[in-house]
Amino acid sequence: MTGLNTQRMEANVVVLGTDNVGKSALIVRFLTRRFIGEYGDIESLYSHSVVVDRREQTLNIWDAPYSQSQQDMSYGSLMCEKRVQWADGFVLVYSICDRASFNAVTRLIHTIKTSKEFLGFEKMPIVIVGNKRDLDHRRTVLSEEGRLLALSADCHFYEVSAAENYHSVLMVFHGLVNCIRESRVSVKKLAGIKGIVKSMSAVFTRRRTDSL
Ligand code: GDP
Ligand code: MG
Repeated sequence: MTGLNTQRMEANVVVLGTDNVGKSALIVRFLTRRFIGEYGDIESLYSHSVVVDRREQTLNIWDAPYSQSQQDMSYGSLMCEKRVQWADGFVLVYSICDRASFNAVTRLIHTIKTSKEFLGFEKMPIVIVGNKRDLDHRRTVLSEEGRLLALSADCHFYEVSAAENYHSVLMVFHGLVNCIRESRVSVKKLAGIKGIVKSMSAVFTRRRTDSL
């Protein structure tokens, strides 16, 4: 079979991490295939379509500046809650040369999971990204540490260089799209099972009352 599956899907993605880790660079690389070097600190919301497994997927991507993100991480402010509620998936970015940014990602995972569980979600699509792979001589976070964190939190993990490589950045967003699709399927399945259980118990309750 050729051609695209016409079913269009949309998902909201929030990119989080401390200042200077390359969040904007990563997003701009994904949107334009380019690395421009300096990005400023403007909060932005982008919309971009990708084709993954012959299905078009529109991603609404929220790039938030540092000052807010940092406050959010420490105090779990309302702003963060809003972002967490809005999101269908998260890209959490640290720099492989910045240990504090890695620790911040660990905290963020906890915040997101707690908030989403509170909102009734079973599993949140999260990808962890170790950026600035090109600066290996300044590395302070080992690849294994990133991989282990992802394993323990049941997330995907990528090491990339927004500065040097488009393909690995594309893989990050493709990976997240796959996670979001899987989570939607499992939510549907769960809803389906719950529906069956509900209707079966309704039938049995009726029978029982009928036989009285
Ligand atoms: P943000 O604050 O997380 O949005 O970070 P930016 O995207 O503004 O990037 C911060 C700085 O890191 C900028 O000077 C970028 O040019 C630089 N940067 C971003 N990604 C990379 C990368 O993969 N490698 C290198 N060497 N520098 C990068
Ligand atoms: Mg930025």
